[in-house]
Amino acid sequence: MMREIDLAFIKLHILYHAATDEVYGVGLMEELGRHGYRLSFGTLYPTLAKMVRMGLLSFETRIVNHKQRKYYRITPVGLKELEKVRAKIKELYEEVIEDK
Ligand SMILES: [Zn+2]
Repeated sequence: MMREIDLAFIKLHILYHAATDEVYGVGLMEELGRHGYRLSFGTLYPTLAKMVRMGLLSFETRIVNHKQRKYYRITPVGLKELEKVRAKIKELYEEVIEDK
């Protein structure tokens, strides 16, 4: 159960950061680590792939230090989803944190 919830939060972080700037695996790992999420690439990459399949993210492959790196950005569909989710986060925050 906790893992399911963590994964949902991780996806929200990814969606948010991909809306702000392009993101890539190692950078996301650092960002998520900062928030206390310990996840493996074996979890992160399939999650990113799933978000691409869902149409939330798109990616572009570039060569960095002789290695291929995928850079992800939010899509228009992802942006709409982020807006919906923002309203839900606000509602949840008001109830769970502010006890309204
Ligand atoms: Zn974040």
